[in-house]
Amino acid sequence: MIKHHTSLDLVRARSPERPVALVRPDAVTVAAQWFQANLKGDVFYAVKANPSPWVIETLWKAGVTSYDVASIPEIELVRAIAPEARLAFMHPVKSRVAISAAYFDHGVRTFALDTHEELEKILDATGGAKDLNLIVRMGVSAEGAAYSLSGKFGIPAEQAPALLRAARQATSALMGVSFHVGSQCMRPTAFQAAMAQCSRALVRAGVFADVVDVGGGFPSIYPGMHPADMSEYIDAIHRGFAEMMVHETTELWAEPGRALVAEASSVLCKVELRKGDALYLNEGSYGTLFDATHSKWPFPVKLVRDGEAAAELKPYRFYGPTCDSIDQMPGPFWLPADVREGDYIEIGMMGAYGVAMSTRFNGFGDTETVLVDDAPMASMFGLAPRAIPLPRIAEEEERKVVRFSRPKGNSGKRRRRR
Ligand SMILES: *Cc1c(COP(=O)(O)O)cnc(C)c1O
Repeated sequence: MIKHHTSLDLVRARSPERPVALVRPDAVTVAAQWFQANLKGDVFYAVKANPSPWVIETLWKAGVTSYDVASIPEIELVRAIAPEARLAFMHPVKSRVAISAAYFDHGVRTFALDTHEELEKILDATGGAKDLNLIVRMGVSAEGAAYSLSGKFGIPAEQAPALLRAARQATSALMGVSFHVGSQCMRPTAFQAAMAQCSRALVRAGVFADVVDVGGGFPSIYPGMHPADMSEYIDAIHRGFAEMMVHETTELWAEPGRALVAEASSVLCKVELRKGDALYLNEGSYGTLFDATHSKWPFPVKLVRDGEAAAELKPYRFYGPTCDSIDQMPGPFWLPADVREGDYIEIGMMGAYGVAMSTRFNGFGDTETVLVDDAPMASMFGLAPRAIPLPRIAEEEERKVVRFSRPKGNSGKRRRRR
């Protein structure tokens, strides 16, 4: 892979025509080592957050040997880079062909399920295998998460005991419970609460779990979203585990996706046109900017120009390159007042669910990968500041909005009269 120190060095060396994923493998290493040193359990990387080969290579070298996969292509991807990896097929709904291939061709032994029907499918497609690790995905409340992952999967608490008993009887290997508190979970105690729900279901079922898998949901840093320290999440999980009815050998697993990769990549894109406060970029919602569109996340941005830029910052909107009008990102993205055609913009904190979301729509979607070794824009692991401050001017705008929208009250009146 080509290497530059920073995005500016790359722009100075040549003007990339296509969007570029700027990647920092060291940031993945630091995050992976942090989780392995602090979690008293096994770390499974959730491959969907960023399936780039450099991520898997870096994690494997950093000692992460377990991977949470959801499809045969994800299994093949990990196997090609790390043939010895332990794979857990954690999608609760799989095709019979995929289950068979995972078991017989790829040596996968761990499967998630949230229905009796899926349990039957798994047993059937593996020829009644007795060495399956069966993980029952529990439905848990997802308060405090930016993205709920509870609407689609997870067995409701009242139906869980029967399925836990059935899974227990179906295997002589491991039976476990798992859940997902929702992605970008802002409340560490959500993990503890979910573990308490699992514990109650296990008690009602009258079975012990060999595995407690707390899933993903560990947060990263985005403008306006300042999560608690990662150690608070780990502490909540350890407290939750200590409070559960489990036996001495019960294993604790976690499946971080976002937290291992978010900081480690940014995306460099080019301004093709400026119309007032709208910047038309060569990258958009059908590329890596899915969350900037559909969740309206105002990712942190930096102008990358070889030369002076205006000191004054202005809020911009972005438009992507496709012809679909949904291809827009409201931001606001704060950049110098004189942004113009031909400028480059580095969008930070894009390592999770960035490249992973890219499509080929309208002929776009080709992304180059270039190594850089500067610091991420923010870090949960000490590589950079713990927060992305809004520009002062943005804070003033925010206060103005608050002031104007304040319902008529004494304090508001007094302020206006002054
Ligand atoms: C998406 C997913 C993860 C990773 O979630 P993050 O919020 O990225 O940490 C982990 N486990 C399962 C089952 C998932 O679907």
